[in-house]
Parts: sequence; structure tokens; C-alpha cells
Amino acid sequence: MAPRSPAPRPRHIRDLLDSGEPLFSFEFFPPRNARSQERLWRAIREIEALGPSFVSVTYGAGGGTRDLTVETTERIATDTTLLPVAHMTLVDHSVAELRHLIGRLSDAGVSNMLAVRGDPPGDPDGEWVRHPEGLTYAEDLVRLLKESGDFSVGVAAFPYKHPRSTDVEADTDFFVRKCEAGADYAITQMFFDVEDYLRLRDRVAARGCEVPIIPEVFPVVKMASIPRSEQLSGAPFPRELAERFERLGEDAEAVREFGIDHARHMCERLLAEGAPGIHFITFNQSTATREIYREIAPVRERAGAAARP
Ligand code: FAD
Repeated sequence: MAPRSPAPRPRHIRDLLDSGEPLFSFEFFPPRNARSQERLWRAIREIEALGPSFVSVTYGAGGGTRDLTVETTERIATDTTLLPVAHMTLVDHSVAELRHLIGRLSDAGVSNMLAVRGDPPGDPDGEWVRHPEGLTYAEDLVRLLKESGDFSVGVAAFPYKHPRSTDVEADTDFFVRKCEAGADYAITQMFFDVEDYLRLRDRVAARGCEVPIIPEVFPVVKMASIPRSEQLSGAPFPRELAERFERLGEDAEAVREFGIDHARHMCERLLAEGAPGIHFITFNQSTATREIYREIAPVRERAGAAARP
């Protein structure tokens, strides 16, 4: 008897989430030059060997790297076994350009997107100016994607609230609107205290919104990652945790070990609390995230087994 062919791989993140098994995913950013291209592809191939649920590629808020995001996402779709998620932003794009971009990604077989607004290029805190023929909020992009085809669409969620939101209540209301516009899932901004994620999840659930919120984990493996995380998330790094890193002083190996240990504990607690998966930030270097992924194998197995009928 001929061997049975394997079941077709689900094309959508929403189907993967519906299975109830936790998803493990990794985020890359587009390469800036040939050297970083090489490093990125080494990391992608190393992550591919782990068989993650999906990988995502960020989209630059302005000019330069945008084509590289699309090329990288297309190549992941065509040349690897990985399921790619393309980040898209609204900055400096007309609706016609966004439609063109959606068409190009779709032609390469990309059917999963993360719809984010993007920050003003140059100064993330500067005034956000809509393209004269563009869109204003991420929820508008969710609608555009849903009208354009059979896409599974994710959105951003902010455990500490988005820096532009007046308070967490308004932030939660706008998050729920994005979900009502058709989002299938959300990925959080990085955070370092699991309680912040749980509070976000409770706030959203209290409004009757059941969209799964995947926590994003960024392992701090060097002191320079602390200000970098603040710059990216727009939120202060927790003081007490920063002090614990500072006490390790100049000992780079101890900082790395502590950072990996902290991220591992976060993953374990998040999965024990029923998080629908973990989205790892790699900064195109897979070593730390692969290490954590391997270390949490028993918890991954337990969470997967608990979800199976
Ligand atoms: P929105 O949901 O549009 O919200 C922006 C602000 O407007 C918030 O304060 C919100 O509360 C408010 N708001 C929303 N809707 C309304 C409304 N109807 N009326 C009034 N106010 C409203 N940036 C990139 O440039 N490239 C990337 O690839 C990228 N990927 C990211 C991935 C993740 C997981 C996360 C968490 C962030 C990412 N970002 C990326 C950053 C993101 O673009 C910025 O944080 C941006 O400032 C907010 O995007 P958003 O999609 O949450 O915007």
C-alpha cells in the first residue's frame, strides 16, 4: 500500500490557533546589506530546523528596507518550509500602494499578515501624518486586508498601553475595535513582567473579546538590550529587573545567562497561564531564542498535550 501523504499544512494562523496547541514563532527584520542578509538567512535556516509554527518579518516605517521585507517574506514562502507572516504598515502608503503590496505578497503565497500602523519615520514620537490617499489606523488596514482576500490578519497589542493612548481603558477600547474589524489574533509588544500580559488579557476578555493574544518575548542578553527595548516598546524597563542586571556588572556571560533564565521563566509561566503561544524576537540572531526554545521543551510538550483531545 502506498504511504499516506501527510495532511496539508494549515495555511492560516487562525487555523493553527483553533487547534488549541500553543504556537511558537520567531520575528526577523529585513537585512540592510549583503552581510546582514547572510546573517539573517543563517538564522532563518537555524530556526527552520526547529519547525516553528510561523516566522514574521517586520516592515520598515519608511523607504529603504521595505522591498527587502517583501523579498525576504516571498523567499521564505517559496524557498523554505516555514509559514511566513508579513508585517505591513500604513506609513507613507496610499491605499493603491497597499493594495499592490497585498497583491504581490498574495501572489507569492503569503496569506498571513500583521496589520500595524507604523510610527512616523525618523522620530517615533513625532506627529503621525496620514498619507493623503492612505489610511489612519491599523483597524483600517485590517478591513482592507479582509476585503482583499482570504487572509489571516493579526494586530498589535500593548501590555503597558500604546504610548499615544491616553490611558489603558482607551487603549483597550481601540484594541477591541481592531479585533471587531476582523483581526484573527494579536501579538503583544515586548514586556518583562508576566503580570502585565495577564492584566492586558483580562482587560480585553472583560470586554467580551476572545481574540487570542500571543505574548512577545525578547531575551535581554546584553546590557545594551535594555535601552533598546525601551526605545522599541516606548515603555520603561522595569526598575527592579534593571537593577538585577546591573548587579551583574561587566560580566557579559552572567548577564546573558540571567537574561536567558528570565526569558525562560516568563515563557514557562505564560504557557502555564494558558497563553496561546510565544512569539520570540530574534534580532536576526537565533542563538538565544533557540536555546530558550529548547529549554522549555517539557513545558511546550505539556501545553501541547493538554490541548489535544
Ligand atoms: P493603531 O492600532 O492604529 O493605534 C495607534 C494609536 O491610535 C494608539 O494609541 C491607539 O490606541 C489609537 N487608536 C487606534 N484606533 C483609534 C481610533 N479609531 N480612534 C482614535 N485613536 C485610535 N512598526 C513598524 O514600523 N513595522 C513593523 O513591522 C512593526 N511590527 C510590530 C509588531 C508588533 C507585534 C508590535 C506590538 C508593534 C509593531 N510595530 C511595528 C510598531 C507599531 O507600528 C507602533 O507601535 C505603532 O505606533 C502602533 O501601531 P498599531 O498597529 O498598534 O496602531
